[in-house]
Amino acid sequence: MGLDEDALEYHRVDPPGKVEISTTKPTNTQRDLSLAYSPGVAAPCMEIHEDETDAYTYTAKGNLVGVVSNGSAVLGLGDIGAQASKPVMEGKGVLFKRFADIDVFDIELEEADPDKLVEAIKMMGPTFGGINLEDIKAPECFTVEERLREEMDIPVFHDDQHGTAIISGAALVNAAEIAGKSLDDLDIVFSGAGASALATARFYVSLGAKRENITMCDSSGIITTGRAESGDVNEYKREFARDVPAGDLADAMEGADVFVGLSIGGLVSQEMVQSMGDNPIIFAMANPDPEIDYHEAKEARDDDVIMATGRSDYPNQVNNVLGFPFIFRGALDVRATEINEEMKVAAARALANLARQDVPDAVVKAYGDQPIQFGPDYIIPKPVDPRVLFRVAPAVAKAAVDSGSARIDHVDVQEYEEQLEA
Ligand code: NAP
Ligand code: MG
Repeated sequence: MGLDEDALEYHRVDPPGKVEISTTKPTNTQRDLSLAYSPGVAAPCMEIHEDETDAYTYTAKGNLVGVVSNGSAVLGLGDIGAQASKPVMEGKGVLFKRFADIDVFDIELEEADPDKLVEAIKMMGPTFGGINLEDIKAPECFTVEERLREEMDIPVFHDDQHGTAIISGAALVNAAEIAGKSLDDLDIVFSGAGASALATARFYVSLGAKRENITMCDSSGIITTGRAESGDVNEYKREFARDVPAGDLADAMEGADVFVGLSIGGLVSQEMVQSMGDNPIIFAMANPDPEIDYHEAKEARDDDVIMATGRSDYPNQVNNVLGFPFIFRGALDVRATEINEEMKVAAARALANLARQDVPDAVVKAYGDQPIQFGPDYIIPKPVDPRVLFRVAPAVAKAAVDSGSARIDHVDVQEYEEQLEA
């Protein structure tokens, strides 16, 4: 309860909320003002009218992200509506600023209809260098993002889908290495087939996992071709339907190499963990309570579990803040037209590589001075590690240029990294 009181006070202290706009150019004299606004401002307007990419040169577009939500799937709170989601969206803006110095306008839209959402967001294209869709419920979130990606010429990224996919993907690459297994051999079971699970399963395929080795379970059990054919599942789940007998999560987990939980807390028992293969990888990411508690999972086995959760009080927290600030930083800095699969894979690989390197003292100190070293209890970098910015943003920028999704045709990774460090 102490936390709730403190949070209300934090937000209430004058000025209400936690963000404001500030200006970046001199505004002291009459002359300054006639440059900032009429009549001087006409000159940059005409430049942009001639060539729209000049908006990146003469306006804040290139460092401005729209965090857009309709409040239909907010954190663990559910469909609380657009107005009530505003503290979360302002908070997302705070994270963008704190971790990557990106400015955010939070946009809360009172609209449930995906077509109308698409129309509204499309109209905002000129304002932003990128759009971060946030807390929009499945399956509408899939249509909204797909259409906007096609119809807009700036990055559109639904963080609840891809953030989790990318960060847990980095964790998977490293966990597989530690378990001595190859991604294309992994037998992977998902609990949950919603926004984050479907995006994560697709992304693991991009990283090298085999679609035919993935079994997905929703609240009715394994998603089988039988269920798909009977019309029992939506088109997005159907993509992962498997030609196996009907069964539940416990059936699916027998002999599996990897469990990915993006569903609800407490669904997995110690027996289910014991039924998995050698060196099992368990990413129990339901928040706030994981599908199985960290200690319970560890106890169930003879010390061979590699475990990650969504929680900060256990090792290997899959925290989206390891992704979106740096992915957008890299995308904005090359004026990207999208965040494509190559850019997401580059982000995951950069995170995975960083976890294999020695950790600076400052980061060790911030986490209670316990030694931090690549291994089962350290498969992804810590969120406060300043190197995440310097590694992920350049990797994403380079992937954007190499895949033809940047408006800039060359990026010197070394130079860019030094610029970020300065
Ligand atoms: P979502 O779109 O609502 O999906 C939830 C999924 O869980 C649905 O597919 C639902 O099945 C399934 N489910 C619910 N009860 C179940 C049960 N008893 N047995 C099996 N499956 C069940 O939600 P989401 O946004 O993907 O998030 C899912 C969970 O992951 C949440 O707890 C969220 O906090 C967590 N999460 C964590 C992170 C992180 O750690 N970084 C990131 C994203 C999400 P039906 O389809 O049948 O309804
Ligand atoms: Mg979210």
